[in-house]
Amino acid sequence: LTEACLTEIEGAGALNGFVHHTPEIARDQARAADARRGADAPALNGIPLGIKDLFCTKGVPSQAASRILSGFRPEYESTVTRKLFESGAVMLGKLNMDEFAMGSSNETSTYGDAVNPWRTDDRKLTPGGSSGGSASAVAADLCLAATGTDTGGSIRQPAAFTGITGIKPTYGRVSRWGIIAFASSLDQAGPMTKDVRDAAILLREMCGHDPLDSTSADLAVPDFEAALTGDIRGKTIGIPREYRMDGMPEEIEALWTRGREMLADAGARIVDISLPHTKYALPAYYVIAPAEASSNLARYDGVRFGHRAKLAQGDGIADMYEKTRAEGFGDEVQRRVMVGTYVLSAGFYDAYYNRARKVRTLIKRDFEQVFAEGVDAILTPATPSAAFGLGEMAHADPVQMYLNDVFTVTVNLAGLPGISVPAGLDGKGLPLGLQLIGRPWEEGDLLNTAYALE
Ligand code: GLN
Repeated sequence: LTEACLTEIEGAGALNGFVHHTPEIARDQARAADARRGADAPALNGIPLGIKDLFCTKGVPSQAASRILSGFRPEYESTVTRKLFESGAVMLGKLNMDEFAMGSSNETSTYGDAVNPWRTDDRKLTPGGSSGGSASAVAADLCLAATGTDTGGSIRQPAAFTGITGIKPTYGRVSRWGIIAFASSLDQAGPMTKDVRDAAILLREMCGHDPLDSTSADLAVPDFEAALTGDIRGKTIGIPREYRMDGMPEEIEALWTRGREMLADAGARIVDISLPHTKYALPAYYVIAPAEASSNLARYDGVRFGHRAKLAQGDGIADMYEKTRAEGFGDEVQRRVMVGTYVLSAGFYDAYYNRARKVRTLIKRDFEQVFAEGVDAILTPATPSAAFGLGEMAHADPVQMYLNDVFTVTVNLAGLPGISVPAGLDGKGLPLGLQLIGRPWEEGDLLNTAYALE
């Protein structure tokens, strides 16, 4: 398997999915896996994976696709990758992404754009972002599955754009230790896979309590794979009216209807629900995420790791910080740092950051209310459109790009599990995804409902 993947990767350079190749590590791990073959081999024995560049991997470049981390090779392994390797997984290399996971198109990477293997004409399409390299590599069969991270949709949106499955677990289910931080109260890692069963297996191997992450939940890890019975009779699925946006393309509307019908045919009860604060989610997210990012990214100062600018005679330490950060961070990252420091500044803290935190609580309560009324899962489209052309949105107003996250950010703000599953093709033949949102800690149930949609 490992050799087959390495060969595929060699022929797929144009997708720009893998940005750092680790064939020696992969072969060593594969040989060790072969030696362990047998009934008591671990769950992922010999399974070749791609790892998003946001995960720190010991001795292997881990740059969050940013110039500012050039040359950085961590001294330690992230908890997620450590657990995957202990379960027998093989690392093929590091995968492309938006710089520091900020973006929805994989166009902010220092390694250049990742490309979607799907296309309908000469136009190159985005695989989505920020886990664009992960999505592209899984969809193109360069690896059996990949890791992703999701702060506002970065697992689910690229999964939808490339016709694969991606789950963002409940906040706290997966350890964030060793994952380069973007917005710490929103970030969660999760698997990006070819189907729901693979997602269940990989998630089980990734999660669990970790004393190194104070927000990691001390809960037993259920066997998510065993939850896949396909039986959803009697489950209640909510359809939130606020997700029916003005100007929503007809094919997205049709996809949503089809999903509803499939779940009803499988025996679920479909109910209309209301999540009244949905329209404030995107603005609240784009205050909270940059605020936390500006704080997390303060550590990149040219002193401790990564890039340091060349200094001129007479430059002081402030010049060193300024030049290093100006050279090391791309435009989108600089924009977020500026927005974040602005909303956190003494004069504006109450007007923006505190207000956004209050809105976040209201969004969370909307979900708590519908779950208390007996809803088991919520069905929505994963994205407002199919994959768009590379370059098409990058030069427009950044707010246009932010609108891609309209269906996904609520889930992060509320800390809930959400999954995107492929659900058919649009008129041009491009994949579309449906999103299911579940109750906290009920990933097994959520995966099983997604399984019924597959
Ligand atoms: N597109 C969103 C952003 O740019 C989400 C990114 C993510 O989930 N990492 O912030």
